[in-house]
Amino acid sequence: SAHNEPLPIRRLQESLINRIAAGEIIHRPASALKELLENCLDAGATSIRVTVKDGGMKLLQIQDNGCGIRRADLPILAERFTTSKLSTFSDLSRITTYGFRGEALASMSHVARLSVVTKTKLETCAWKAHYLDGLLVEGKPGQTAEPKPCAGNDGTTIIIEDLFYNTPTRLSALRSASEEYSRILDVITKYAVHNPKVSFVCKKVSSPSPDLSTPSSSEVPQAIRLLYGHSIAKNLLHAKFGSKSKPDEEDGDKEEQLEPGSADRELWSAEAHFTNANYQSKKTVFLLFINQRLVESARIKRALEAVYSGVLPKGASPFIYLSLQINPRDVDVNVHPTKKEVHFLNEEGITDQISDTLQRSLASQSQSRVFEYQT
Ligand code: ADP
Ligand code: MG
Repeated sequence: SAHNEPLPIRRLQESLINRIAAGEIIHRPASALKELLENCLDAGATSIRVTVKDGGMKLLQIQDNGCGIRRADLPILAERFTTSKLSTFSDLSRITTYGFRGEALASMSHVARLSVVTKTKLETCAWKAHYLDGLLVEGKPGQTAEPKPCAGNDGTTIIIEDLFYNTPTRLSALRSASEEYSRILDVITKYAVHNPKVSFVCKKVSSPSPDLSTPSSSEVPQAIRLLYGHSIAKNLLHAKFGSKSKPDEEDGDKEEQLEPGSADRELWSAEAHFTNANYQSKKTVFLLFINQRLVESARIKRALEAVYSGVLPKGASPFIYLSLQINPRDVDVNVHPTKKEVHFLNEEGITDQISDTLQRSLASQSQSRVFEYQT
């Protein structure tokens, strides 16, 4: 009978392949925004302004005062694997900037209408360009597909319109505009805590006043106070800790010698701001940054919740901000960079040391500053 006969295998259309791949990187407005924020921070921005319409589904606009993009680079900006952050394969394991594969803007051009206005310090005017499916396209029918000169400040504005207009399944998986907007605010809030020297503003197109606004020269505890409130801020403990290799135990292989710097080389380091036993919340708020990138780690979260279960009443949860610096060499590059859940070398050992430090600090309700030496 017919149902037992194999159907012919066909090649998917190129445009469909690109759309599927893009959908794996860009899940929703907040994940597009995360990529764009990281680009702004990579570009050295000290001011980032986000404007949103319909939860980012209609419009997501992000303006920075960073280094800008050179006019000459605009034609290939939205091509896949075009990046200014990686040039050789060995860079891949050493890279410390946020993104590094040149996929974010390309992906957005496959699932949305992407426009860019940008100006470097050296350029006398700004340039505007539109992209579709990886290519520079004309702004209006009949115009040539070339960047157009226009007025503009130093820095870059990225405009994402009609996200998922060509991927109805993605579009229908999204929640209401207000829920998507609150996810956007959540991502910005977390980056604003982690980057207290950068001013962040976020507003809806329709609203005259911003929903989030931070100053440009703050410190992490002040940013936490502003964004998460007084009851958390007044109950914060602080710890700075990590692990260094002993200077005399340096194995001095060729690779180590490539790295200039201090005699006792840091294997990893961490800084945390976390609530003491006097603070109780219904749900854990956990901000985790690894090498400046907002990520998730179920393992670390579970371990820290276990620590707090020893000091908080049942059902009560903490606020924890944790920033980890790990040698990029030790972060698993096989995990796709946009996957939020990360893995790194010696995850268990590092997690244990983080737990121990917080535990001790909570027990004495005091700040701690511990550097363990690797033996
Ligand atoms: P990646 O960040 O991995 O390089 P992206 O697709 O996110 O890939 O960006 C591609 C390139 O576009 C970046 O390497 C950078 O040179 C440039 N770029 C993107 N956004 C900005 C920005 N806001 N300011 C300056 N340059 C940017
Ligand atoms: Mg990027």
